[in-house]
Amino acid sequence: MEENCVFCKIVRGEIPATKVFENEHVIAIRDINPKARVHILVIPKKHIRSINQLTAEDTPLLGEVFSAIRRVAEQEGIAESGYSTLINTGHDGGQTVFHIHFHILGGEKMPW
Ligand code: AMP
Repeated sequence: MEENCVFCKIVRGEIPATKVFENEHVIAIRDINPKARVHILVIPKKHIRSINQLTAEDTPLLGEVFSAIRRVAEQEGIAESGYSTLINTGHDGGQTVFHIHFHILGGEKMPW
């Protein structure tokens, strides 16, 4: 846990967020500035800055993340229509929150 990380604060319940799923390993919240009709962030509770800081020890956690993505997509009714799963890394990747997170974008056709 990082004292000043916005997603750690959400995990600790110090900042409000619209939670759509939570278990021991991850939370999923609605993005505060949605870029699609459905825009959810799946966030591991463990503070990992980005893909660059993942280690072999995090492999089971990534399984948990993808299970959560599947579950949230079902819950939101976009599993069949489809969705994009996006991870931004570092400055050039457009990462703005340095706590790894997985965007789920759907509910409409993505422009790419
Ligand atoms: P990225 O640019 O990949 O780092 O994505 C960060 C995302 O977090 C952006 O889409 C923001 O809109 C979103 N975001 C930032 N702060 C919050 C918050 N407090 N609650 C929900 N989403 C947030």
